Amino acid sequence: MNTIKYRIEATRPEAHLFTVSLTVDSPDPQGQAFSLPVWIPGSYLIREFAKNIVSIRAHSAGRDVTLNKVDKNRWEAAAVQGALTLEYTVYAFDLSVRHAYLDDQRGFFNGTSVFLAVEGQSHLPCDVEIAPPKGAQFADWRVATSLQTAGAPAYGFGHYSAADYDELIDHPVELGAFTLLQFEACGVPHDFVLAGRFRHLDEARLLHDCKAICETQIRMFGEPAPFDRYVFMTVVTPDGYGGLEHRASTALVVTRDDLPRLGETTQKDGYRKYLGLISHEYFHSWNVKRIKPAAFAPYAHDRESLTRLLWVFEGITSYYDDLLLLRAGVIHTDSYLELLGQTISGVISQPGRLVQTLAESSFDTWIKYYRQDENSPNSGISYYTKGALAGLCLDLHIRNETHGKHSLDDVMLALWQRYGRDFHEGAKRGQGIGEDEFESIAEDVTGLNLRTFFDLAVRSTQDLPLQSLLASAGIDWQQRAPSHGGDKGKWLDSIPVAPAWLGWRTSQDAAGAKVSHVLEGSPAQAAGISAGDLIIAVDGLRVTHTSLEGHVSQFKAGDTVTLAGFRRDELRTWLVTLADAPHTLVALKQSDRAKENADSVWPAV
Ligand code: ZN
Repeated sequence: MNTIKYRIEATRPEAHLFTVSLTVDSPDPQGQAFSLPVWIPGSYLIREFAKNIVSIRAHSAGRDVTLNKVDKNRWEAAAVQGALTLEYTVYAFDLSVRHAYLDDQRGFFNGTSVFLAVEGQSHLPCDVEIAPPKGAQFADWRVATSLQTAGAPAYGFGHYSAADYDELIDHPVELGAFTLLQFEACGVPHDFVLAGRFRHLDEARLLHDCKAICETQIRMFGEPAPFDRYVFMTVVTPDGYGGLEHRASTALVVTRDDLPRLGETTQKDGYRKYLGLISHEYFHSWNVKRIKPAAFAPYAHDRESLTRLLWVFEGITSYYDDLLLLRAGVIHTDSYLELLGQTISGVISQPGRLVQTLAESSFDTWIKYYRQDENSPNSGISYYTKGALAGLCLDLHIRNETHGKHSLDDVMLALWQRYGRDFHEGAKRGQGIGEDEFESIAEDVTGLNLRTFFDLAVRSTQDLPLQSLLASAGIDWQQRAPSHGGDKGKWLDSIPVAPAWLGWRTSQDAAGAKVSHVLEGSPAQAAGISAGDLIIAVDGLRVTHTSLEGHVSQFKAGDTVTLAGFRRDELRTWLVTLADAPHTLVALKQSDRAKENADSVWPAV
């Protein structure tokens, strides 16, 4: 069978340039078209990767072939007899998990950034030769990827293969002198690759926790795992965070201080967050990479793939990411309830929850969630956080209505069995689930009529029945106003008086406090303050971003305060009548009754 041959070389690390060649043995006799995806699956924003193609040419049998650019991301080569080769350079200097990166320390690429698709031949198998940069200083570079080897030694440069183009672009590649750790989960080899600078990593702790998370998830869906091996790729940065899921690997960005250090005995919040990210991306191996919406089967690489179901694929994944940390035994119930309380508080404090439904948030993510602006808190709600809470409510509702016979696990397992497990990538194009099918399968599996539940949770902006459902699960609820800006919502024995409130968010600016967001219905909005305004004085006293909260805390609800500042270069004053801070913080704890009766209590089961 014909094979599409790619070769990628880190030719000029100092200029952040990869050189790629692509050979098609049997190009379209009418002239061959090539294209690059405009987005990367898992990150729902048009990113126009073709902007980083710096130069490109085509040749055949030693002669140049005319290559026309016919769209922002498409090229057409003139008709030739015999094999056709493209050669192009790609600029790679984006540290995120969604693009490509190359310097003298490391390289990373997603296929969506570097591999052009051969139109009409994207079903063909691909051979990829990954070549090292030239020079003695790169002698210790290795390769980490979940691509199948086609002759390359383990972690070495050389040839790799993919069954088709979709598979080719779903295995990112890390290059460099990285740290490689290994473990097995349910007998499946897992690599844990860390790039970037860090010291005194507690490797044993990281591997122990990862293994527990992976085994818990594999067992939830049932062995065998849906991959022969799995690769975690982490780049360590001063302040980054993020992840992107792939079918047998994930690319992660972590903040250096969040890694577990030797000698640390407690679990810092940052490490817990990192474990949550690991759990989230790994869960996607089932939920979105194999159980997927019909709109993603296959992905449309040249335009938005629209679905109202992202709350299922991101929200329910977000529900399970922390819950599975608890089930895996890497966090305790109190820690889980603290995380859940933070998620609830985040949703409740967002006025946009009263404007946008989960279905709308999913569908519009391309133009709204992924394009946050100063009005986003007022106009939308995250299908991650509210979707996680809808997953929680669905789980508890099913448990209550079936008297513990069923749970959301049964729904996920049924989805896996019907739409995931038999999904043979490459050989047979898998079917995705239709826009109504998540709900109908949930009804089938549980025997419940869930229409009213889904109408409320997914297609309305009414608040979810969290408090009553959590009470039924033995969880007590405390709702109060934040007592200060950094209040994370711990359970308090006595609730302080709500502080005076403006209803804005501000950030540091050299000259004062910059207003970044003004919340719908807030005193700041009523007074005419806008995002972008620079606040320099409160009641005649100069303020900075740091001192602002202290100045405002001198006042009580009902007080009228004069603020001074600038809109663009125009000096302004605003008279603001302060209000009581709304009760947007929720803290949770197990009820005493539930603690005594621990074996029957969600969320441990
Ligand atoms: Zn996700």
